[in-house]
Amino acid sequence: MKNGAKEGQLKRQEEELGKIKKEVLNCKKCPLHKERVGNKFYPVIGEGNHRAKIMFVGEAPGLQEAKTGRPFCGAAGKILDELLESANIKREEVYITNILKDRPPGNRDPQPEEIKSCTPYLERQIEMIKPEIICPLGRHSMNFLMEKFGLGNQIEGISRIHGRSFKTKNLFQDITIIPFYHPAVATYNPNMKGILEKDFEILKLVTDKTKGELSEKEKRESGEIVERMEENDPFS
Ligand code: URA
Repeated sequence: MKNGAKEGQLKRQEEELGKIKKEVLNCKKCPLHKERVGNKFYPVIGEGNHRAKIMFVGEAPGLQEAKTGRPFCGAAGKILDELLESANIKREEVYITNILKDRPPGNRDPQPEEIKSCTPYLERQIEMIKPEIICPLGRHSMNFLMEKFGLGNQIEGISRIHGRSFKTKNLFQDITIIPFYHPAVATYNPNMKGILEKDFEILKLVTDKTKGELSEKEKRESGEIVERMEENDPFS
């Protein structure tokens, strides 16, 4: 792509992601916003590299996340950080978000009507960031993303399809969906950590290959983008 066209595309991406952020901050589409306002919580919009090849999609913010506005910054986030490290992936390289942007009370499961009203934000984030690999974390995210990408007939229980990759495409590109168990499972069942680590090896294979193929210029460019993630601060 020519430089001018690329700059235009990046500008549009930043504008649209900024717009999504403003809309989520003011969103009243489902009753969860009352929890947010009443408890002085933040919505958790997403965090990471706007040119990420890998996007992780969890279920909904927990208490720590709602207090800070950052995804996966509590106990499940610690596990996710360790899994990323085990796969030789830096958190700044990826983009992390959830299907719900507000915390359900008591961390209960997302409800169908909440998923319906909140996921248009996620769909726009995917359209803007254009990840090549999308990793649902947990069954709610897996169900939503596999349905969305035309893989509904291949959905099985997460215990059967965790760590498997599914090829699909959207209007713009090929996409691989790799569902994982939700990292929180390892906080109450330590045996699950080994299973998650094994599943994350698939990401290590993909990213090691891509890193080997990056030119010096691309490596510099990806560094610039990582610095820009500071601007993705939900409080700014
Ligand atoms: N669990 C999730 O699904 N998402 C978070 O951001 C934190 C915990």
